[in-house]
Amino acid sequence: MVFFPMGNVRLKVIGLFMGAAMLVGTAQAQGVVNPHADEPCGYATVLQQLEQQYPGFKASYDQQTQRALQLDAQKLATQTLSNRKKKISDTLYYYDTVYTIPVVFHVIYNVANENLHDSLIISQLAVLNRDFNRLNSDSVKTRNIFKSRAGTARIQFEFAKVDPNGVATTGIVRKSTTKTTFGSAGGGIQDLMKATATGGDDPWDPAKYLNIWVCDLSVNNQDALLGYAYPPYGHPSWTSGSWVADSKQGVVLHYKVVGRNNPRATGAIASSNMGRCAVHEVGHFFGLRHIWADDQYSANKCLVDDYIDDTPLQGIGAGFTCNLGGNTCIESKNDLPDMFENYMDYSTEACQNLFTKRQVQMMRTSITDFRTELPIKREIITRMRVFDTVVYDEVLIYPVDTETDVVVEVRNEELLEMVDVQFFDLLGRELTELVALKQNETRFDTQTWASGYYVAVLKRSSDGKVIRKQKLFVD
Ligand SMILES: [Zn+2]
Repeated sequence: MVFFPMGNVRLKVIGLFMGAAMLVGTAQAQGVVNPHADEPCGYATVLQQLEQQYPGFKASYDQQTQRALQLDAQKLATQTLSNRKKKISDTLYYYDTVYTIPVVFHVIYNVANENLHDSLIISQLAVLNRDFNRLNSDSVKTRNIFKSRAGTARIQFEFAKVDPNGVATTGIVRKSTTKTTFGSAGGGIQDLMKATATGGDDPWDPAKYLNIWVCDLSVNNQDALLGYAYPPYGHPSWTSGSWVADSKQGVVLHYKVVGRNNPRATGAIASSNMGRCAVHEVGHFFGLRHIWADDQYSANKCLVDDYIDDTPLQGIGAGFTCNLGGNTCIESKNDLPDMFENYMDYSTEACQNLFTKRQVQMMRTSITDFRTELPIKREIITRMRVFDTVVYDEVLIYPVDTETDVVVEVRNEELLEMVDVQFFDLLGRELTELVALKQNETRFDTQTWASGYYVAVLKRSSDGKVIRKQKLFVD
């Protein structure tokens, strides 16, 4: 638990991208009730321990976190809401392309126990394919309120078939090392496993392969850090402090949590035996942030979100639980509980079962915008229907609090002039004509409408088919 750098290193950023996700809270691990009632997350205990070990750690951590949050807040303040929404383009969403990513595992071992059998690596790849494509049987456990938000990434992973020199390969490279661990006592993330010169193994061209290093990340025989990954260089959802050079791109996994039913996942990390640490880290690799946005130490934990608007606002990570009642941020409209089902939360692996559609979109956009050479296949399967996307949330309808307008916002330019809207009162009386949505934002003046509920009906322009009805309250 000493992977958090001190001094002037940017702690918050580290917290963001590291599978520090995977910091196992001692409270949870030992079945001790966490004393921090306002922060029911093992993370607080971890920090407390670090403070004992390294006096002054917490002050430094808080200071760095505050600074990073201020930067975030400044950035947000200069962006209009609609600008933020447009950050991720949506074009490919309508063409169902399956991306296949070649993967190379670098198994770096000091003792035989770290030299994982092929079967574990193979099962790890299978878990990635299963979970990224929502083929996981526990998808039935997704709570009803979130079912419609669950997405299928259509990203597949396969073992690399040729190495960078064109030589046939199994996609698994094994290398012995004299280093007994790559965990770093007090020095933060060192990435030593990523270079042959430092006892690890050089990456294969990170633009063309997903490199996954499997090695010992323990410190003093503690399984503190289970994995980490970096977002694509230049990704807009991340600060520049999170961007690293190509040679460090990829995913690192603690050997004990690789694959399904890895017998090394015992004790404190026994619940991390489903291979989902890798799912989480590959999520980071494709640009996703933790769903609570790592602002748990902020005065307002609900201020910064993950730039994903179909994950509910969340103040803190789930702390390796599946807390059914957890709701750390009350949203002013359509409040929802925390989404512990999400692979990008810190819930136990047994209760994780989904990426949302917007997370899928961000990951796919990360491929088309940043990891462009990575997929070896792009198969156009089918075109999604406008119907599906409108039902989901490509068209938003909402009253503007401070004005008398209702706004109909089309979030995807491909839908312009394909959808019409009309407003009715609850008795079915027409309040407006059928209006074609020709621009991103169409406004309706509701000054003459009495306070109460109304229904907006969206129809497909081509045939008038009703594709969505939405009730809304107008003051
Ligand atoms: Zn993480």
